Amino acid sequence: MKIGVYVCECGLNISAIVDVPQVVERVKSLPNVIISRYNKYTCSDPGQESIRKDIREFNLDRVVVASCSPRMHESTFRSVVEETGINPYCFEMVNIREHVSWVHTDSEKATEKAIQLISGAVARAQFLEPLERKEVSVIPKSLVIGGGIAGIQTALEIATDGFQVYLVEQSPSLGGRMAQLDKTFPTLDCSACILTPKMVDAARHPNIELLTYSEIEKIDGYIGNFKVTVKQKPRYVDVEKCVGCGLCAEACRLKGKIPNEFDENLSKRSSIYIPFPQAVPLKYTIDPERCNMLRFGKCGDKLLCVEACEQNAIDFEQKEKLVELDVGSIVVATGYDNFDASKEPKYGYEENEAVITAMEFERIVNAAGPTEGHLEINGQEPKSVVFIQCVGSRDKDGHEYCSRVCCMYTAKQAHMVRDKIPDSKISVYFTDVRAFGKGFEEFYNRVLAEDIDYRRRMLDDPIQVLGNDKGVIVKAEGHPDIHADLVVLATGLTPRKDSKELARKLNISLSSDGFLLEAHPKLRPLDTFTDGVFIAGCCQSPKDIPDSVAQASGAAVRAATPLAQGKVVVEAISAQIDEDMCSGCRICESLCAYSALEFSSEDKVMKINDVLCKGCGSCAAACPTGAITMKHYSNKQVLAQIGGILSK
Ligand code: FAD
Ligand code: SF4
Ligand code: SF4
Repeated sequence: MKIGVYVCECGLNISAIVDVPQVVERVKSLPNVIISRYNKYTCSDPGQESIRKDIREFNLDRVVVASCSPRMHESTFRSVVEETGINPYCFEMVNIREHVSWVHTDSEKATEKAIQLISGAVARAQFLEPLERKEVSVIPKSLVIGGGIAGIQTALEIATDGFQVYLVEQSPSLGGRMAQLDKTFPTLDCSACILTPKMVDAARHPNIELLTYSEIEKIDGYIGNFKVTVKQKPRYVDVEKCVGCGLCAEACRLKGKIPNEFDENLSKRSSIYIPFPQAVPLKYTIDPERCNMLRFGKCGDKLLCVEACEQNAIDFEQKEKLVELDVGSIVVATGYDNFDASKEPKYGYEENEAVITAMEFERIVNAAGPTEGHLEINGQEPKSVVFIQCVGSRDKDGHEYCSRVCCMYTAKQAHMVRDKIPDSKISVYFTDVRAFGKGFEEFYNRVLAEDIDYRRRMLDDPIQVLGNDKGVIVKAEGHPDIHADLVVLATGLTPRKDSKELARKLNISLSSDGFLLEAHPKLRPLDTFTDGVFIAGCCQSPKDIPDSVAQASGAAVRAATPLAQGKVVVEAISAQIDEDMCSGCRICESLCAYSALEFSSEDKVMKINDVLCKGCGSCAAACPTGAITMKHYSNKQVLAQIGGILSK
């Protein structure tokens, strides 16, 4: 056996703490080490080339690289050795950056630790065995979950690449939050005007199948071969017959009685409804929680909606349907929830009608909204308007992250107040103004010049909104009180309430803030740790529309790549079962988070699907008979590694 060891300085990242030349000298004497070198950057072209050269010159059959995390460069170095004829599983990586130089300050001890870890890797390398990766074929179809702007963009891009896409949206229409907005910063385009054509394009695209009013029930399988069960909720309206004329909603006995969630409950709708006039598909839906007929089996003396419908489209017998889809890749674009302002009583949101959220403001100023675009509170135009930023964001006791859009949408909304009520007094309480995007600073400066009183406050400074008979007073430390007719709370963006549940179905993770976790924040921001599942838009973190669209286009490329290739290579590290030793106790079955183990009732033993298996090792650790072993992490390999570490 001939082993080459390459120690990386990673610029100063490693060499500032670890004495790299000393490490190289000392590991030269380890058993079977033929050559040991260091590089400034082993991942660079010259660094890689030196490994290739040595493999040829010294006939190396095992390679150890001590550098950064395997998550960063394991695949880089595996490719280097593979190109030179060595099986990629005969390569071993040691992390002396995150595990050593970045976490220790004592140079001498850090150097010793690096030597011990490399010694363990060299001992393990002697027992590494070549493994063969598997190729699996890919179903050339994709699933996009969420029909907001990010989901629509993703679906359109994949469909334009020539692949079939299922676009699943849980509400009755596409559009997401963008459909609720009036104008959009920094260009002040009308939100509906730029969104509606995209919604229509998605609905008309021959490669896109829309499944609105639908939810993901179950997802099984793996990259290239996912099996998805979608629950289609009954609309109680036959979508083939409904022409969207709205006669039913006009006739509905509950017309004007049901809070309209699209208008943030500031207007009322019927029990049979469309969320908004440009809804796609333009098909009515009966709200099962509100409809008299669905709740009580009766609605007055006759069914007014059924009578009104000239198309005979209403069908109270409709049942929910389960639809099975086979897809090769999945993009999650499920967006965000708005922060619940009632959780911060100091802003008086629940007590005072003059205190509203930013999303309510968007609906009020919209021509199709509850006041047909007139900015009024209790029928009166507000003459003094106060905006408060960072409500539910940048809060160390709550959501610590910045919601990224509130600074700019507040500037936009302040501009809209100035536009609608030129003589109004407008104040904005801010902590910082983060105008980071293209055209944002220019837009902010434009708004500042419109006589808007921007008042800085520190995040921890108390601010309080108190209601009295004559209106509302905003009290903020270090500033004179303001008597306001309207207070708009710039509420932050929060993870969706159901994101944990969805993440569980998809076998993906959440980050500590509750948004969906990307595989790497810088280098793989669109991937998840589950191969074939990608993320786009605000489900990953708060972001504005341009960033959501950019991320969606990127995710579409990532999701379409395996479909275009037709085949994917799956990791060879997996569990293996010695069927002669398996007692069939099935303890391992429930432990596998990837459903990779199945009991064969014929053979009375567990069988493994090594495409589904992620090689996590949970089953092997639990198996009482030792029937399960891990490829690439056999007892022999692990014990040798421990021995190597302890020997130094
Ligand atoms: P969403 O718009 O939230 O869409 C997600 C979609 O997924 C929804 O349709 C939802 O029903 C669906 N969904 C969720 N879960 C599931 C599930 N399990 N199954 C199926 N479907 C599901 N940005 C700007 O650039 N300019 C602005 O002027 C601007 N103004 C704003 C004003 C306010 C008050 C707020 C709060 C935000 C503003 N934004 C603005 C930000 C903008 O709303 C977001 O960037 C954008 O909506 C993100 O789109 P998305 O598709 O990621 O998410
Ligand atoms: Fe559809 Fe009938 Fe209602 Fe018209 S009246 S919108 S056709 S359900
Ligand atoms: Fe499941 Fe993990 Fe065992 Fe593979 S190693 S079968 S993923 S428990």
